[in-house]
Amino acid sequence: MSADALADLLADARAGVAFTGAGVSTESGIPDFRSSEGLWTREDPRDLSFRRYVASAALREEAWRRRYALWQDPPRPNLGHLALADLEAAGHLAGVVTQNVDGLHGEAGSATVVELHGSTRRVACIGDAPRAGTPQGCGFSASHTWAFARLEAGEADPRCPDCGGIVKTTTVSFGQNLWPGVLEEATALLDRADLVLVVGSSLAVEPAASLPRRAQRAGVPLAIVNAEPTPLDDVAEVCVRARAGGVLADVTAALPSRRQASA
Ligand code: NAD
Repeated sequence: MSADALADLLADARAGVAFTGAGVSTESGIPDFRSSEGLWTREDPRDLSFRRYVASAALREEAWRRRYALWQDPPRPNLGHLALADLEAAGHLAGVVTQNVDGLHGEAGSATVVELHGSTRRVACIGDAPRAGTPQGCGFSASHTWAFARLEAGEADPRCPDCGGIVKTTTVSFGQNLWPGVLEEATALLDRADLVLVVGSSLAVEPAASLPRRAQRAGVPLAIVNAEPTPLDDVAEVCVRARAGGVLADVTAALPSRRQASA
C-alpha cells in the first residue's frame, strides 16, 4: 500500500503514537540487529549481558572506552526522526514509544518519548552486586557526560559518587529487566492512541512488540513503515515497505495541503 494512504491516516490522527525500533536509526548510521547489514551478522549482542557487565570490570572498562570513542563523532537525527517530531508538533502524534537507546528522537525534537530499553545518554547506579537482572542502585543518575568526565579524569570504570556501586548506562542489556514503570508509561500513551505508527521494527522483541499488537486488537488502526515484512503486516491498515526517512519526510510535507483539501 502507498504512502498516500499513510498520509490520509496521519492527517486524521489527533493522538497517534509512533512505535519505533532500530530501523528508524539505520539512516543515521547506527546498525540494527536483524536486517542483512544488522549487528547480529557480525557479533552477538548477548555477549553484552547484564550478568557479564556486573561480573567483569574489564568488560565495563571496554564498554566505557567504546562509548567515549563513539561520542567523539555522535550520530545525528535523520529525516525519519525529524518527521516524527514535526508530526507531534503539528498535533497528529501524542508521542513516541521507542525500543531504541540512542536518544535521537529527543534530539530531533520529539517532546514525549518513552524509551522502553533505556538510553545510552543516561547513566545510573546499579548497586554493588545486583542479581537476577535487577539493578539495585542507590538512586544516583546522571547524564552520560558525567561518566565521560570521570573517564577523562583517569577512571576506567567510574563508580557511583554516592555509594561506590557499579554505574551503567540506563540501556536494558540482555538478561536485564525493564526499568520499573516504563511499560506502564508506554501502555498509558497507547491506551489513548487513535493511530499506532510502527517505524523500523521487526516486531520480534518482547514485551515491546506486544504493545502495538495489543493496541491493534483494541481497535486502534495500525500503520507500518518497515523495510522488511513484520508479523503484524496482515492486520495493518497501511503497510509501506520502504526506508523510513524518505517516506516519513514526504508524508509529513504533504499533510498541510491534505488538511486544506479536506477542510
Ligand atoms: P530489529 O533489528 O529487530 O529490526 C529492525 C527492522 O527495521 C528490520 O525489520 C529492518 O528491515 C528495518 N529497517 C532497517 N532499516 C530501515 C529503514 N531505513 N527504514 C525502515 N525500516 C528499516 O530492531 P528492533 O525491532 O528495534 O529490535 C531490536 C532491539 O535492538 C531493540 O530492543 C532495540 O533496543 C535494540 N537496538 C537499538 C538500536 C538503537 O538504539 N538505534 C540499534 C540496534 C538495536
